[in-house]
Amino acid sequence: MDLQPEIHVQCPYCWETIPLYLDASAGTQEYTEDCSVCCRPIIVHVSFLFDEPAVWVEPEMD
Ligand SMILES: [Zn+2]
Repeated sequence: MDLQPEIHVQCPYCWETIPLYLDASAGTQEYTEDCSVCCRPIIVHVSFLFDEPAVWVEPEMD
């Protein structure tokens, strides 16, 4: 099963809501994704609790 749940998060820079496509098979993960609106790097944290994705984002610190 290659389920890719789509979730929406709010960009910490421009506050636009952007879609993320999670790779559930990767489990708990942390990666950087460029905002599709303002193109700034967002750090995305993902953890799975009982197959429910818990996601939070934060701005990349220089
Ligand atoms: Zn943005």
